[in-house]
Amino acid sequence: MPEEPSKASAHDHKRLGRELDLFVFSDVVGAGLPLWTPRGTLVRNLLDDFVWELRQKRGYQKVGIPHITKKELYETSGHWDKFKDDLFRIKSREGNELALKPMNCPHHIQIFARRPHSYREMPQRYCETTMMYRDEQSGELNGLSRVRAITIDDAHTFCRESQVKEEFLKVWDIVQEFYGAFGFELTIRLSFHDPKQSEKYLGDKKKWKVAEDILRAIAEEKGAETSEGIGEAAFYGPKLDFMAKDSLGRDWQVATIQLDMNMPERFDLTCVNEKGEKERIVMIHAAIMGSIERFLSVILEHLEGKLPLWLSPIQVMVLAVSEKHLPHAENVARELNAAGIRTELHATDSLGKRIRVAKIQKVPYFLVIGDEEVSSKTATLEGRAGKVGTFLVEEIIFQLQKEVDSRAS
Ligand SMILES: [Zn+2]
Repeated sequence: MPEEPSKASAHDHKRLGRELDLFVFSDVVGAGLPLWTPRGTLVRNLLDDFVWELRQKRGYQKVGIPHITKKELYETSGHWDKFKDDLFRIKSREGNELALKPMNCPHHIQIFARRPHSYREMPQRYCETTMMYRDEQSGELNGLSRVRAITIDDAHTFCRESQVKEEFLKVWDIVQEFYGAFGFELTIRLSFHDPKQSEKYLGDKKKWKVAEDILRAIAEEKGAETSEGIGEAAFYGPKLDFMAKDSLGRDWQVATIQLDMNMPERFDLTCVNEKGEKERIVMIHAAIMGSIERFLSVILEHLEGKLPLWLSPIQVMVLAVSEKHLPHAENVARELNAAGIRTELHATDSLGKRIRVAKIQKVPYFLVIGDEEVSSKTATLEGRAGKVGTFLVEEIIFQLQKEVDSRAS
């Protein structure tokens, strides 16, 4: 188990979440149900856009599903048996039993199953960032690390067995590109089933062996150093888990790619092959961030709240030294915002107080406007590490846009 985030240090994500004004909990909404502020929502969307950009290039399509379902869906998938104590259950007025979804796979399967698919249309790659719900015990809840409403950047690829390797390698590339942007070093864990506890898993042993051998071969082909986690598999299939080491030396399980030969069996998923016959397909489950809540808790602590420029809700704070510098400061802020750089101008309070506030909020850049800047129509740029220099506003915009576009860490 990863070590729990520390409670009171400068790294603590709950404290950082408050200081950066990203999320809040409300007693009347309930424990484990984070509410996302405008800034927090922006950060979540920026992360999600990044994942989508990487997926879209590789042929994924977005889908959408409701957050509840009839019990029958989970009886077929096996989730009812496996998760019945963790499910939030709902009774409809007509007496039907429904549940809030604890997973998205069975819903996505119903979309795939809406019509027959020719082998020429395979793979089908669905993705969706959506919330799911688990009735975690209140004693287990902890900031964003353990919540009851979990946002997952979920994806399901429906493919032929012969396509598994290529599809896995695609997701692997996405994972490397995404985590590379945060300076994480990744290690790989092959999460396999525990043969001594076969009652915990769906399906027959032969299928598990085939699936686990495929994962081993993929990791070998990648030349990746791996460890094996016996008993860490999902109940429907083995996983390839990516572990990230953070700046405090802690290991976190982040992205996961799972090979599933059992759900397609239970839901009778097929494609029509070259011979015109029905061929059993397989499913790949993959999340890049995993839970966005947990991912955010990890990066907030890893970066001590100093989000990279592209991900910072406020990218630039404009500070006028005194009131007479305000008109030029307002022009500068307007120009930056018009260029798509999220800029705020603080005009109240003393200069010292405004700088303190911006530092607590870990704003990446300040622009200071005083006498010299007004007369030369410039601004003085200061980063987290100190003064960068005095430049024309268009030069500053060019530099900052370059930093945003490259998603520099
Ligand atoms: Zn899934």
